[in-house]
Amino acid sequence: MNLYDLLAGGFPADRSQPAFLMSDGAEVSYAELEAGAAQIAGHLRALGVKPGDRVGLQAEKSVDAVMIYLGVLKAGAVFLPLNSAYTRPEVDYFVHDAQPRVFVTDAQAFRAEADAADPLVKAIARAETDLAALIYTSGTTGRSKGAMLSHGALAENALALHKAWGFTPDDVLLHALPIFHVHGLFVALHCVFLSGAPMVWLPKFVDAEVMAGLAKSTVMMGVPTFYTRLLANPEFTRERAAHMRLFISGSAPLLESTFAEFEARTGMRILERYGMSEAVIITSNPLDGDRIPGSVGYPLPGVELRIGGDAETGVIEIKGPSVFSGYWEMPEKTAQEFTADGYFMTGDVGRQDPDGRVWISGRAKDLIISGGYNVYPKEIELVLDELAGVTESAVVGVPHPDFGEGVVAVVIAAKDHWGDEAAMIAECRRQLAPYKSPKRIVFVDELPRNAMGKVQKNLLRDRYGDLFKTG
Ligand code: AMP
Repeated sequence: MNLYDLLAGGFPADRSQPAFLMSDGAEVSYAELEAGAAQIAGHLRALGVKPGDRVGLQAEKSVDAVMIYLGVLKAGAVFLPLNSAYTRPEVDYFVHDAQPRVFVTDAQAFRAEADAADPLVKAIARAETDLAALIYTSGTTGRSKGAMLSHGALAENALALHKAWGFTPDDVLLHALPIFHVHGLFVALHCVFLSGAPMVWLPKFVDAEVMAGLAKSTVMMGVPTFYTRLLANPEFTRERAAHMRLFISGSAPLLESTFAEFEARTGMRILERYGMSEAVIITSNPLDGDRIPGSVGYPLPGVELRIGGDAETGVIEIKGPSVFSGYWEMPEKTAQEFTADGYFMTGDVGRQDPDGRVWISGRAKDLIISGGYNVYPKEIELVLDELAGVTESAVVGVPHPDFGEGVVAVVIAAKDHWGDEAAMIAECRRQLAPYKSPKRIVFVDELPRNAMGKVQKNLLRDRYGDLFKTG
Protein backbone atom coordinates (compact mmCIF):
# COMPACT_ATOMS: atom_id res chain seq x y z
CA MET A 1 0.00 0.00 0.00
CA ASN A 2 1.24 3.47 -0.91
CA LEU A 3 -0.37 6.46 0.84
CA TYR A 4 -0.56 8.11 -2.59
CA ASP A 5 -3.02 5.45 -3.80
CA LEU A 6 -5.24 5.95 -0.77
CA LEU A 7 -5.33 9.73 -1.34
CA ALA A 8 -5.82 9.44 -5.10
CA GLY A 9 -8.65 7.01 -4.41
CA GLY A 10 -10.52 10.00 -2.99
CA PHE A 11 -9.98 12.24 -6.03
CA PRO A 12 -13.23 12.99 -7.87
CA ALA A 13 -14.21 10.61 -10.71
CA ASP A 14 -14.40 13.69 -12.91
CA ARG A 15 -10.80 14.85 -12.67
CA SER A 16 -11.61 18.16 -14.35
CA GLN A 17 -13.03 19.25 -10.97
CA PRO A 18 -10.90 21.88 -9.21
CA ALA A 19 -8.47 20.95 -6.44
CA PHE A 20 -7.17 24.50 -5.90
CA LEU A 21 -9.13 27.73 -6.10
CA MET A 22 -6.66 30.60 -6.31
CA SER A 23 -7.48 34.10 -5.10
CA ASP A 24 -7.09 35.57 -8.61
CA GLY A 25 -9.92 33.31 -9.83
CA ALA A 26 -7.65 30.72 -11.47
CA GLU A 27 -8.19 27.02 -10.73
CA VAL A 28 -5.99 23.94 -10.77
CA SER A 29 -7.87 20.72 -11.46
CA TYR A 30 -7.40 17.28 -9.98
CA ALA A 31 -6.31 16.14 -13.47
CA GLU A 32 -3.46 18.67 -13.38
CA LEU A 33 -2.52 17.69 -9.83
CA GLU A 34 -2.42 14.02 -10.74
CA ALA A 35 -0.41 14.66 -13.90
CA GLY A 36 2.03 16.90 -12.02
CA ALA A 37 2.60 14.25 -9.34
CA ALA A 38 3.22 11.59 -12.02
CA GLN A 39 5.75 13.82 -13.83
CA ILE A 40 7.60 14.60 -10.63
CA ALA A 41 7.64 10.95 -9.55
CA GLY A 42 9.07 10.04 -12.99
CA HIS A 43 11.65 12.81 -12.75
CA LEU A 44 12.74 11.70 -9.28
CA ARG A 45 13.19 8.13 -10.53
CA ALA A 46 15.24 9.41 -13.43
CA LEU A 47 17.41 11.35 -10.95
CA GLY A 48 18.17 8.04 -9.25
CA VAL A 49 15.84 8.40 -6.26
CA LYS A 50 15.14 4.95 -4.83
CA PRO A 51 12.35 3.94 -2.47
CA GLY A 52 13.28 5.07 1.02
CA ASP A 53 15.54 7.91 -0.17
CA ARG A 54 14.76 11.29 1.35
CA VAL A 55 13.69 14.19 -0.86
CA GLY A 56 13.93 17.59 0.84
CA LEU A 57 11.86 20.64 0.00
CA GLN A 58 12.40 24.14 1.30
CA ALA A 59 10.26 26.49 -0.72
CA GLU A 60 7.38 28.92 -0.45
CA LYS A 61 3.90 27.45 -0.34
CA SER A 62 2.62 26.65 -3.84
CA VAL A 63 0.63 24.15 -5.89
CA ASP A 64 3.94 22.91 -7.29
CA ALA A 65 5.10 22.15 -3.76
CA VAL A 66 2.00 19.99 -3.23
CA MET A 67 2.71 18.19 -6.51
CA ILE A 68 6.23 17.52 -5.25
CA TYR A 69 4.85 16.08 -2.02
CA LEU A 70 2.57 13.72 -3.93
CA GLY A 71 5.28 12.89 -6.47
CA VAL A 72 7.69 11.93 -3.68
CA LEU A 73 5.08 9.61 -2.15
CA LYS A 74 4.33 8.08 -5.50
CA ALA A 75 8.02 7.40 -6.15
CA GLY A 76 8.19 5.60 -2.80
CA ALA A 77 10.62 8.19 -1.41
CA VAL A 78 10.47 9.98 1.96
CA PHE A 79 9.23 13.57 1.99
CA LEU A 80 11.30 16.00 4.04
CA PRO A 81 9.65 19.44 4.22
CA LEU A 82 11.54 22.29 5.84
CA ASN A 83 10.26 25.60 7.17
CA SER A 84 10.86 28.22 4.49
CA ALA A 85 12.17 30.58 7.19
CA TYR A 86 15.11 28.33 8.14
CA THR A 87 18.50 29.93 7.62
CA ARG A 88 21.41 28.35 5.79
CA PRO A 89 23.10 26.95 8.95
CA GLU A 90 19.78 25.46 10.08
CA VAL A 91 19.23 23.84 6.69
CA ASP A 92 22.81 22.52 6.77
CA TYR A 93 21.97 20.68 9.98
CA PHE A 94 18.88 19.01 8.49
CA VAL A 95 20.65 18.09 5.27
CA HIS A 96 23.56 16.62 7.18
CA ASP A 97 21.18 14.70 9.44
CA ALA A 98 18.68 13.41 6.87
CA GLN A 99 21.05 12.99 3.88
CA PRO A 100 18.43 13.64 1.20
CA ARG A 101 19.20 12.33 -2.29
CA VAL A 102 17.48 15.39 -3.81
CA PHE A 103 16.90 18.77 -2.20
CA VAL A 104 14.49 21.18 -3.88
CA THR A 105 14.64 24.92 -3.21
CA ASP A 106 12.56 26.17 -6.14
CA ALA A 107 9.33 24.20 -6.54
CA GLN A 108 8.32 25.92 -9.81
CA ALA A 109 11.66 25.25 -11.49
CA PHE A 110 11.68 21.62 -10.33
CA ARG A 111 8.16 21.11 -11.62
CA ALA A 112 9.11 22.63 -14.98
CA GLU A 113 12.14 20.31 -15.29
CA ALA A 114 9.92 17.35 -14.48
CA ASP A 115 7.72 18.06 -17.51
CA ALA A 116 10.39 16.49 -19.68
CA ALA A 117 10.41 13.22 -17.72
CA ASP A 118 8.45 10.05 -18.42
CA PRO A 119 5.55 10.12 -15.98
CA LEU A 120 5.37 7.41 -13.35
CA VAL A 121 1.87 6.04 -13.83
CA LYS A 122 1.73 3.48 -11.05
CA ALA A 123 2.81 4.32 -7.50
CA ILE A 124 5.74 2.28 -6.15
CA ALA A 125 4.40 -0.36 -3.74
CA ARG A 126 5.22 0.28 -0.08
CA ALA A 127 4.64 -1.61 3.14
CA GLU A 128 2.64 0.02 5.92
CA THR A 129 5.77 0.40 8.01
CA ASP A 130 7.81 2.02 5.22
CA LEU A 131 8.53 5.69 5.77
CA ALA A 132 6.53 8.33 3.93
CA ALA A 133 7.82 11.46 5.62
CA LEU A 134 10.44 12.81 7.96
CA ILE A 135 9.19 15.78 9.97
CA TYR A 136 11.64 17.77 12.02
CA THR A 137 9.83 18.92 15.13
CA SER A 138 9.43 22.64 15.42
CA GLY A 139 12.17 22.95 18.00
CA THR A 140 10.80 25.55 20.40
CA THR A 141 12.84 23.52 22.87
CA GLY A 142 16.00 21.49 22.40
CA ARG A 143 17.61 20.20 19.24
CA SER A 144 15.39 19.30 16.28
CA LYS A 145 14.68 15.63 15.79
CA GLY A 146 13.25 13.99 12.68
CA ALA A 147 9.98 12.22 13.45
CA MET A 148 9.60 9.23 11.10
CA LEU A 149 6.05 8.79 9.83
CA SER A 150 5.11 5.67 7.90
CA HIS A 151 2.62 5.22 5.06
CA GLY A 152 0.43 3.21 7.46
CA ALA A 153 0.50 5.85 10.22
CA LEU A 154 -0.43 8.71 7.89
CA ALA A 155 -3.13 6.64 6.19
CA GLU A 156 -4.69 5.69 9.52
CA ASN A 157 -4.79 9.28 10.72
CA ALA A 158 -6.13 10.62 7.43
CA LEU A 159 -9.04 8.15 7.42
CA ALA A 160 -9.87 8.84 11.07
CA LEU A 161 -9.96 12.63 10.58
CA HIS A 162 -11.87 12.50 7.33
CA LYS A 163 -14.57 10.58 9.17
CA ALA A 164 -14.44 12.44 12.50
CA TRP A 165 -14.91 15.85 10.88
CA GLY A 166 -17.54 14.68 8.39
CA PHE A 167 -15.76 15.70 5.19
CA THR A 168 -17.71 15.24 1.93
CA PRO A 169 -17.13 16.20 -1.73
CA ASP A 170 -19.32 19.24 -1.09
CA ASP A 171 -16.80 20.75 1.31
CA VAL A 172 -14.41 23.53 0.41
CA LEU A 173 -11.44 23.97 2.74
CA LEU A 174 -9.94 27.39 3.37
CA HIS A 175 -6.21 26.60 3.35
CA ALA A 176 -4.07 29.43 4.74
CA LEU A 177 -1.61 27.31 6.78
CA PRO A 178 2.03 26.67 5.87
CA ILE A 179 2.68 23.26 4.29
CA PHE A 180 6.04 22.50 5.92
CA HIS A 181 4.23 21.43 9.10
CA VAL A 182 1.91 18.45 9.77
CA HIS A 183 -1.13 20.71 10.25
CA GLY A 184 -1.25 22.28 6.78
CA LEU A 185 0.45 19.34 5.06
CA PHE A 186 -1.15 16.15 6.37
CA VAL A 187 -4.19 17.19 8.36
CA ALA A 188 -5.55 19.67 5.84
CA LEU A 189 -4.47 18.16 2.51
CA HIS A 190 -5.36 14.58 3.37
CA CYS A 191 -8.91 15.48 4.46
CA VAL A 192 -9.38 17.40 1.21
CA PHE A 193 -7.93 14.70 -1.07
CA LEU A 194 -9.90 11.89 0.56
CA SER A 195 -13.06 13.90 -0.15
CA GLY A 196 -12.08 14.95 -3.67
CA ALA A 197 -13.03 18.46 -2.59
CA PRO A 198 -11.47 21.79 -3.57
CA MET A 199 -9.46 24.20 -1.42
CA VAL A 200 -9.39 27.97 -1.36
CA TRP A 201 -5.62 28.15 -1.60
CA LEU A 202 -3.94 31.10 0.11
CA PRO A 203 -0.15 31.47 0.33
CA LYS A 204 -0.60 32.67 3.91
CA PHE A 205 -3.11 34.31 6.24
CA VAL A 206 -3.90 37.70 4.72
CA ASP A 207 -6.98 39.28 6.31
CA ALA A 208 -8.69 40.48 3.14
CA GLU A 209 -8.12 37.19 1.29
CA VAL A 210 -9.34 35.09 4.19
CA MET A 211 -12.40 37.29 4.47
CA ALA A 212 -13.15 36.75 0.76
CA GLY A 213 -12.36 33.03 1.01
CA LEU A 214 -14.87 32.48 3.81
CA ALA A 215 -17.71 33.20 1.42
CA LYS A 216 -16.65 30.26 -0.77
CA SER A 217 -15.58 27.79 1.92
CA THR A 218 -17.22 25.40 4.36
CA VAL A 219 -14.30 24.45 6.65
CA MET A 220 -11.29 26.36 7.94
CA MET A 221 -8.34 24.83 9.74
CA GLY A 222 -6.30 27.30 11.70
CA VAL A 223 -3.88 27.96 14.50
CA PRO A 224 -5.28 30.05 17.39
CA THR A 225 -3.72 33.25 16.01
CA PHE A 226 -5.93 32.91 12.91
CA TYR A 227 -8.95 33.19 15.18
CA THR A 228 -7.65 36.15 17.17
CA ARG A 229 -6.87 37.87 13.88
CA LEU A 230 -10.35 37.21 12.54
CA LEU A 231 -11.87 38.58 15.74
CA ALA A 232 -9.69 41.69 15.60
CA ASN A 233 -11.24 42.48 12.22
CA PRO A 234 -14.59 44.30 12.54
CA GLU A 235 -15.51 43.02 9.08
CA PHE A 236 -15.61 39.49 10.45
CA THR A 237 -19.29 39.14 11.29
CA ARG A 238 -21.91 36.45 11.68
CA GLU A 239 -22.83 36.97 8.00
CA ARG A 240 -19.21 36.49 6.91
CA ALA A 241 -19.11 33.14 8.69
CA ALA A 242 -22.56 32.05 7.52
CA HIS A 243 -21.27 29.86 4.65
CA MET A 244 -19.00 27.87 6.97
CA ARG A 245 -19.93 24.62 8.70
CA LEU A 246 -16.77 24.11 10.74
CA PHE A 247 -13.85 26.07 12.23
CA ILE A 248 -11.05 23.85 13.56
CA SER A 249 -8.17 25.02 15.76
CA GLY A 250 -4.95 23.37 16.84
CA SER A 251 -1.14 23.38 17.06
CA ALA A 252 -1.26 25.61 20.15
CA PRO A 253 -3.77 26.11 22.96
CA LEU A 254 -6.89 28.09 22.08
CA LEU A 255 -7.67 30.67 24.74
CA GLU A 256 -11.08 30.21 26.33
CA SER A 257 -11.69 33.91 25.74
CA THR A 258 -11.13 33.41 22.00
CA PHE A 259 -13.58 30.52 21.96
CA ALA A 260 -16.19 32.61 23.82
CA GLU A 261 -15.70 35.73 21.72
CA PHE A 262 -15.90 33.68 18.54
CA GLU A 263 -19.16 32.11 19.62
CA ALA A 264 -20.62 35.47 20.58
CA ARG A 265 -19.63 36.94 17.20
CA THR A 266 -20.62 34.08 14.89
CA GLY A 267 -22.85 31.73 16.87
CA MET A 268 -20.37 28.94 16.08
CA ARG A 269 -18.20 26.95 18.47
CA ILE A 270 -14.61 26.38 17.34
CA LEU A 271 -13.65 22.71 17.29
CA GLU A 272 -10.32 22.31 19.06
CA ARG A 273 -8.13 19.31 18.48
CA TYR A 274 -4.66 18.29 19.70
CA GLY A 275 -1.79 16.88 17.72
CA MET A 276 1.95 16.81 17.24
CA SER A 277 4.51 15.95 14.58
CA GLU A 278 5.03 12.54 16.20
CA ALA A 279 1.41 11.43 15.88
CA VAL A 280 -0.39 13.96 13.64
CA ILE A 281 -3.78 14.23 15.41
CA ILE A 282 -4.33 12.59 18.78
CA THR A 283 -7.61 13.96 20.18
CA SER A 284 -10.48 16.03 18.88
CA ASN A 285 -13.60 17.65 20.20
CA PRO A 286 -16.65 16.04 18.63
CA LEU A 287 -18.31 17.21 15.41
CA ASP A 288 -21.67 16.28 16.92
CA GLY A 289 -21.62 16.80 20.63
CA ASP A 290 -20.11 19.16 23.14
CA ARG A 291 -17.13 21.25 22.08
CA ILE A 292 -15.82 22.44 25.40
CA PRO A 293 -13.41 25.39 25.62
CA GLY A 294 -10.17 24.45 27.35
CA SER A 295 -10.54 20.76 26.45
CA VAL A 296 -8.99 19.08 23.41
CA GLY A 297 -11.72 16.43 23.28
CA TYR A 298 -11.53 12.66 22.96
CA PRO A 299 -8.82 10.34 21.60
CA LEU A 300 -9.42 9.54 17.93
CA PRO A 301 -10.53 5.98 17.18
CA GLY A 302 -7.44 3.77 17.27
CA VAL A 303 -5.54 6.01 19.70
CA GLU A 304 -4.94 4.53 23.15
CA LEU A 305 -4.34 7.38 25.58
CA ARG A 306 -3.49 7.38 29.27
CA ILE A 307 -2.03 9.69 31.88
CA GLY A 308 1.40 8.58 33.14
CA GLY A 309 2.25 8.45 36.85
CA ASP A 310 -0.02 8.06 39.83
CA ALA A 311 -1.49 11.54 40.08
CA GLU A 312 -4.63 12.80 38.37
CA THR A 313 -2.51 15.10 36.23
CA GLY A 314 0.55 13.76 34.43
CA VAL A 315 2.26 13.28 31.09
CA ILE A 316 -0.06 12.20 28.29
CA GLU A 317 1.02 8.83 26.86
CA ILE A 318 -0.25 7.43 23.57
CA LYS A 319 -0.11 4.23 21.55
CA GLY A 320 -1.64 3.20 18.25
CA PRO A 321 -1.16 2.75 14.51
CA SER A 322 -0.81 6.49 13.80
CA VAL A 323 2.05 7.06 16.24
CA PHE A 324 5.44 7.70 14.59
CA SER A 325 8.12 5.03 14.19
CA GLY A 326 10.84 6.86 16.14
CA TYR A 327 13.35 9.68 15.70
CA TRP A 328 15.59 9.50 12.67
CA GLU A 329 18.95 7.94 13.54
CA MET A 330 18.36 8.45 17.27
CA PRO A 331 17.54 4.99 18.65
CA GLU A 332 18.53 5.97 22.20
CA LYS A 333 16.47 9.14 22.22
CA THR A 334 13.55 7.15 20.76
CA ALA A 335 13.84 4.48 23.46
CA GLN A 336 13.82 7.16 26.18
CA GLU A 337 10.57 8.61 24.89
CA PHE A 338 8.64 5.31 24.98
CA THR A 339 7.48 3.39 28.05
CA ALA A 340 8.36 -0.29 28.52
CA ASP A 341 4.87 -1.24 27.31
CA GLY A 342 5.14 0.79 24.12
CA TYR A 343 3.44 4.11 24.88
CA PHE A 344 4.96 7.31 23.51
CA MET A 345 5.42 9.97 26.21
CA THR A 346 4.20 13.12 24.51
CA GLY A 347 5.71 15.59 26.97
CA ASP A 348 2.33 17.29 27.24
CA VAL A 349 0.85 17.34 30.73
CA GLY A 350 -2.85 16.80 31.17
CA ARG A 351 -5.69 14.86 32.70
CA GLN A 352 -8.55 12.73 31.43
CA ASP A 353 -12.17 12.60 32.59
CA PRO A 354 -13.77 9.20 33.26
CA ASP A 355 -15.62 9.48 29.93
CA GLY A 356 -12.31 9.91 28.08
CA ARG A 357 -12.24 13.68 27.53
CA VAL A 358 -8.73 15.16 27.66
CA TRP A 359 -7.53 18.47 29.12
CA ILE A 360 -4.01 19.78 28.54
CA SER A 361 -2.37 21.81 31.27
CA GLY A 362 1.02 22.49 29.74
CA ARG A 363 4.31 21.01 28.62
CA ALA A 364 6.37 18.89 31.02
CA LYS A 365 9.42 20.89 29.98
CA ASP A 366 7.66 24.13 30.98
CA LEU A 367 7.35 22.96 34.56
CA ILE A 368 8.87 25.50 36.96
CA ILE A 369 10.45 24.34 40.19
CA SER A 370 10.54 27.26 42.60
CA GLY A 371 11.83 26.71 46.12
CA GLY A 372 11.35 22.97 45.60
CA TYR A 373 7.69 23.32 44.67
CA ASN A 374 6.29 22.40 41.25
CA VAL A 375 4.55 25.27 39.50
CA TYR A 376 2.52 24.57 36.36
CA PRO A 377 2.60 27.73 34.22
CA LYS A 378 -0.83 27.04 32.71
CA GLU A 379 -2.46 27.33 36.15
CA ILE A 380 -0.99 30.80 36.64
CA GLU A 381 -1.79 31.82 33.06
CA LEU A 382 -5.44 30.90 33.54
CA VAL A 383 -5.63 33.16 36.63
CA LEU A 384 -3.91 36.04 34.84
CA ASP A 385 -6.05 35.69 31.70
CA GLU A 386 -9.19 36.12 33.81
CA LEU A 387 -8.05 39.48 35.23
CA ALA A 388 -9.77 42.58 33.88
CA GLY A 389 -7.99 44.08 30.89
CA VAL A 390 -5.65 41.11 30.36
CA THR A 391 -5.54 39.76 26.82
CA GLU A 392 -2.98 37.04 27.22
CA SER A 393 -0.10 35.84 29.36
CA ALA A 394 2.88 33.50 29.33
CA VAL A 395 4.51 32.28 32.53
CA VAL A 396 8.12 31.07 32.64
CA GLY A 397 10.73 30.20 35.26
CA VAL A 398 14.09 31.97 35.24
CA PRO A 399 17.12 31.53 37.50
CA HIS A 400 16.59 32.90 41.01
CA PRO A 401 19.33 33.06 43.68
CA ASP A 402 17.10 31.81 46.53
CA PHE A 403 14.43 29.71 44.88
CA GLY A 404 16.34 28.06 42.04
CA GLU A 405 13.74 29.33 39.62
CA GLY A 406 11.53 32.38 40.05
CA VAL A 407 8.10 32.67 38.45
CA VAL A 408 7.88 35.46 35.86
CA ALA A 409 4.67 36.40 34.05
CA VAL A 410 4.80 38.14 30.70
CA VAL A 411 1.45 39.82 30.20
CA ILE A 412 -0.44 41.73 27.53
CA ALA A 413 -2.78 44.05 29.45
CA ALA A 414 -4.63 47.33 29.04
CA LYS A 415 -2.59 50.08 30.70
CA ASP A 416 -5.60 51.78 32.32
CA HIS A 417 -6.47 48.67 34.32
CA TRP A 418 -3.04 47.94 35.70
CA GLY A 419 -0.71 50.81 36.41
CA ASP A 420 2.21 48.72 37.64
CA GLU A 421 3.16 45.15 38.34
CA ALA A 422 2.71 45.47 42.12
CA ALA A 423 -1.07 45.71 41.87
CA MET A 424 -1.26 42.67 39.61
CA ILE A 425 1.13 40.64 41.77
CA ALA A 426 -1.04 41.49 44.80
CA GLU A 427 -4.12 40.25 42.94
CA CYS A 428 -2.35 36.98 42.01
CA ARG A 429 -1.43 36.50 45.67
CA ARG A 430 -5.07 36.72 46.59
CA GLN A 431 -5.83 33.82 44.25
CA LEU A 432 -2.71 31.68 44.33
CA ALA A 433 -0.37 30.21 46.93
CA PRO A 434 2.65 32.51 47.40
CA TYR A 435 5.08 30.05 45.78
CA LYS A 436 2.96 30.02 42.61
CA SER A 437 2.44 33.77 42.38
CA PRO A 438 4.64 35.59 39.90
CA LYS A 439 7.55 37.33 41.58
CA ARG A 440 7.80 39.69 38.65
CA ILE A 441 5.32 40.69 35.95
CA VAL A 442 6.50 42.21 32.70
CA PHE A 443 4.02 44.03 30.47
CA VAL A 444 4.49 43.64 26.73
CA ASP A 445 2.53 44.43 23.56
CA GLU A 446 3.10 41.05 21.95
CA LEU A 447 4.32 37.54 22.78
CA PRO A 448 6.97 35.95 20.51
CA ARG A 449 5.44 33.14 18.44
CA ASN A 450 6.70 30.68 15.86
CA ALA A 451 5.05 30.07 12.50
CA MET A 452 2.49 27.71 14.05
CA GLY A 453 1.35 30.24 16.61
CA LYS A 454 3.16 28.67 19.56
CA VAL A 455 4.50 31.06 22.18
CA GLN A 456 8.29 30.71 22.19
CA LYS A 457 8.92 30.39 25.91
CA ASN A 458 12.60 29.70 25.31
CA LEU A 459 12.93 33.27 23.98
CA LEU A 460 11.13 34.64 27.03
CA ARG A 461 13.43 32.67 29.35
CA ASP A 462 16.43 34.16 27.54
CA ARG A 463 15.02 37.66 27.52
CA TYR A 464 14.16 37.73 31.22
CA GLY A 465 16.90 35.38 32.41
CA ASP A 466 18.65 38.14 34.38
CA LEU A 467 15.61 39.49 36.19
CA PHE A 468 16.59 38.07 39.57
CA LYS A 469 20.34 38.33 39.15
CA THR A 470 22.01 40.08 42.06
CA GLY A 471 25.30 41.95 42.08
P1 AMP B 1 4.33 20.20 16.72
O1 AMP B 1 5.04 18.90 16.77
O2 AMP B 1 5.18 21.32 16.23
O3 AMP B 1 3.07 20.08 15.95
O4 AMP B 1 3.95 20.61 18.20
C1 AMP B 1 3.15 19.75 18.96
C2 AMP B 1 2.79 20.37 20.28
O5 AMP B 1 1.88 21.45 20.10
C3 AMP B 1 2.08 19.43 21.20
O6 AMP B 1 2.95 18.54 21.84
C4 AMP B 1 1.39 20.39 22.14
O7 AMP B 1 2.29 20.85 23.14
C5 AMP B 1 1.04 21.56 21.23
N1 AMP B 1 -0.36 21.53 20.83
C6 AMP B 1 -0.90 21.11 19.66
N2 AMP B 1 -2.25 21.26 19.67
C7 AMP B 1 -2.58 21.77 20.88
C8 AMP B 1 -3.80 22.15 21.51
N3 AMP B 1 -4.96 22.06 20.89
N4 AMP B 1 -3.72 22.62 22.77
C9 AMP B 1 -2.56 22.72 23.42
N5 AMP B 1 -1.38 22.40 22.88
C10 AMP B 1 -1.38 21.93 21.62
